Amino acid sequence: MAHVIAEPCVGCKYTDCVVVCPVECFYEGNNMLYINPEECIDCEACVPECPVEAIFHEDNLPNEGDKLWGEYRAVNAEMTASGTCPNITERKERDQ
Ligand code: SF4
Ligand code: SF4
Repeated sequence: MAHVIAEPCVGCKYTDCVVVCPVECFYEGNNMLYINPEECIDCEACVPECPVEAIFHEDNLPNEGDKLWGEYRAVNAEMTASGTCPNITERKERDQ
C-alpha cells in the first residue's frame, strides 16, 4: 500500500509536500513529483500539504469522469524505480 501523486501535480513548483514526509520518499520528475510505493508508509502527512489535492491513497485514486488517474499508481512506481528521478526532500522556493 502507498500514496500516489496524480495529474494535479503537473507543473507544481512549490513542493510543499516533501518536507513533511518522515521517510523521504518523494522523487522529482520533469514536470511533477512521484512517491516511491516501496518506501511510503501511508502516514498521510503529505496529503493536507498539497494545495491542489494531488495526493491520494492508492485505493482512493479517482478514476472516472474527467479524473482518469488510475494509471498514476503504476506511473509513480515505474518512475521512482527508473533511476531517472532524483530524491527530493527540500521545498523549492517560489519564483518570486
Ligand atoms: S504539493 Fe502537491 S502539486 Fe506540489 S509537488 Fe507536492 S504533490 Fe505535487
Ligand atoms: S503518506 Fe507519509 S510516507 Fe507516504 S509519501 Fe506521504 S508523507 Fe511520505
